[in-house]
Amino acid sequence: MTETDLFEVVNPATEEVITTVELAGLAETDAAVARARAAFDTWRRVAPADRARLLRSFAAAVDADREHLAALEVANAGHTIGNARWEAGNARDVIEYYAAAPERLLGRQIPVSGGIDVTFQEPIGVVGVIVPWNFPMPIAAWALAPALAAGNTVIVKPAELTPLTALRLGELALQAGIPEGVLQILPGRGPVVGQRFVTHPDVRKVVFTGSTRVGKEIMAGCAAQVKPVTLELGGKSANIVFADADLARAAATAPYAVFDNAGQDCCARSRILVEASVFEDFLALLEPAVRGVRVGDPTDEKTEMGPLISAAHRARVSSYVPDGSAVAFRGSAPDGPGFWYPPTVLAPVRHDDRAFIEEIFGPVVAVVPFRDEQDALRIANATEYGLSGSIWTRDVGRALRVSRGVDAGNLSVNSHSSVRYTTPFGGFKQSGLGRELGPDALDAFTQTKNVFISTEE
Ligand code: NAP
Ligand code: MG
Repeated sequence: MTETDLFEVVNPATEEVITTVELAGLAETDAAVARARAAFDTWRRVAPADRARLLRSFAAAVDADREHLAALEVANAGHTIGNARWEAGNARDVIEYYAAAPERLLGRQIPVSGGIDVTFQEPIGVVGVIVPWNFPMPIAAWALAPALAAGNTVIVKPAELTPLTALRLGELALQAGIPEGVLQILPGRGPVVGQRFVTHPDVRKVVFTGSTRVGKEIMAGCAAQVKPVTLELGGKSANIVFADADLARAAATAPYAVFDNAGQDCCARSRILVEASVFEDFLALLEPAVRGVRVGDPTDEKTEMGPLISAAHRARVSSYVPDGSAVAFRGSAPDGPGFWYPPTVLAPVRHDDRAFIEEIFGPVVAVVPFRDEQDALRIANATEYGLSGSIWTRDVGRALRVSRGVDAGNLSVNSHSSVRYTTPFGGFKQSGLGRELGPDALDAFTQTKNVFISTEE
């Protein structure tokens, strides 16, 4: 008898079954951990220059496969082809960036009496990576690339709904010469495979991206073995628009800061805070921008927003906009098959409305006025989350004051960018723990060893 079961992978834009994928059970998970544990003993000893070369080959294989990877994501996750191409390129870039790390994992030599003291950045062991369905390729790459570079072996559990690009990345790694067992992709259910990463003593680190609820369970479970975790969780980020801002640009870009990827983005600026004196002007500029978002067939190069990931998720998103909600205006969405939901702007909204408090993870944004800088900060920070945010103003001093004042890990001024593979990414408060990307991500996949060598005769 086998523990495996089959999962039907669905195209969210057409509701057609694309393929079926075998889900691993506990026995397969334990076998994968045993392979990863065995591979760790050799992978950690691969010479730094050789590990670097293998990672560069992996990046080159991803580069050569970009169109294919992008097409898989369009079909599996309903991402627009433009976004999916960016995501495949981002996976390549992240792997290439961390390919430089094996040869730069420097330790320190610390002055002491009676000898020499040196530190080593040792790998942790087998790393379990639990990936959500919203950005399957980048989120897998952000963890696996630095983890492998530091000498760990990795098992990735993709979300049940979106396993296809992760599986392809695993094939490309093997093609590039990364040895068997060093990077494994293991589709399976969260409470089975993901949970086993938490409880298996040979998995020595868990990286989790997903909901705050599951993230808390994982952190609590890892405590039993004092297992380190990196958590990237939800968000309810603020886009703060001051009266002195370039209002036309702020309004033109605001829809893309929340409706990109159909709002299924932990960095979505899903609360727009506008200085009261320009509130009506801003809404007047926002309306055509929202109506202009091109929602439809994700394979069409001109499309700007695709469907939601599943029928269940669409039902959850709609629950935030019950009949009688104050919908100020809406964009369009196709009829017929597909899990479509139109870009939706809520105003006025009470600050205690659950649509203003909870992460909706869909194309719904709430717009509220604020009085002054202090009021803007009070509203922006009145949330358990703290992932990202934007500040629109022409006053440099205010831009810096408000950037320092918002309790969030990733802020942008007069722009909505959050993610560059060269800069740190992660959340304050219940948005997460630890940082990914940038120069310091290796810290999350290494532990410092101190060695003292006596020079006494
Ligand atoms: P989720 O349940 O937190 O799932 C994220 C990942 O964790 C998936 O791979 C999931 O596997 C796995 N998982 C689920 N339960 C687990 C458990 N007990 N132990 C170990 N792993 C487990 O998120 P979701 O249900 O996909 O989405 C729910 C909400 O979470 C969204 O609406 C959104 O608010 C938030 N979310 C945030 C992010 C983010 O980027 N921060 C991403 C996704 C979702 P399965 O695929 O089998 O469920
Ligand atoms: Mg779930």
